[in-house]
Amino acid sequence: MDLRELYQDLIVDHNKRPRNFGKLDDATYFAEGFNPLCGDQLTVYLYVDAERVTKVQFEGEGCAISTASASMMTEILTGKTIAEADALFELFHQVLIGEKELDDDTTSKLGKLAVLTGVRAYPSRVKCATLAWHTCQGALHKKQEAISTE
Ligand code: ZN
Repeated sequence: MDLRELYQDLIVDHNKRPRNFGKLDDATYFAEGFNPLCGDQLTVYLYVDAERVTKVQFEGEGCAISTASASMMTEILTGKTIAEADALFELFHQVLIGEKELDDDTTSKLGKLAVLTGVRAYPSRVKCATLAWHTCQGALHKKQEAISTE
């Protein structure tokens, strides 16, 4: 199996069986995100204790990329500090919009998320891949309005 197929499998798997899916009743932060270009819509819930994300969940409907990205995000952010979550989002976003090269160092920092960087060539899919992350940022930093990729 080549790397591309492996990547594809991971996305398919997370889309079919999203991790941490559902409403988090005791969330300390939450926000809704919408990507009108594709129709992806989701809510991200976080439980933050002493600047550390201890629980992340999401619910909503979207394409395979947006769902897989949200699912992976919940796994990756659990246990991270808000500062670490911000830094990871920044790196992921920069790679996706082509401002940062995907070299070995970046790939290792991104970990599993690297599988989503295949959408770099497709600007409309970049919005699918980053929706959950933008929404999470909105929740953590208390932006009041609904988060839209447009
Ligand atoms: Zn989408």
